[in-house]
Amino acid sequence: MIRYLLITVFSLLALTFFRAIMGVVQKAVVNEVKSAMGGEDAPPAAGPNRSSGPSAGPAATTLRKCVSCGTYKPEGAMIRYGSGDKSIFFCSAECEKKANA
Ligand SMILES: [Zn+2]
Repeated sequence: MIRYLLITVFSLLALTFFRAIMGVVQKAVVNEVKSAMGGEDAPPAAGPNRSSGPSAGPAATTLRKCVSCGTYKPEGAMIRYGSGDKSIFFCSAECEKKANA
């Protein structure tokens, strides 16, 4: 009988101990996740950097559709007519000729 009691008490203690550990682990995980997210928030500097890197050519790297053949190419590589939203693009001089023909 005493043995049963001891086992019960021991298992309760073990359970309490286990819960305590789980609590600590959980806190550690939460902290890690928070710091990881903070770490991701920190490099937004890198995000803008990424966009500012190509910022020299974000327009040049924008894909444009050739109005003649429908091919998509970076804007910088295309022949451009007009400006702003009304611009039209040709992928090559050939397409330009086709459109003018
Ligand atoms: Zn074309």
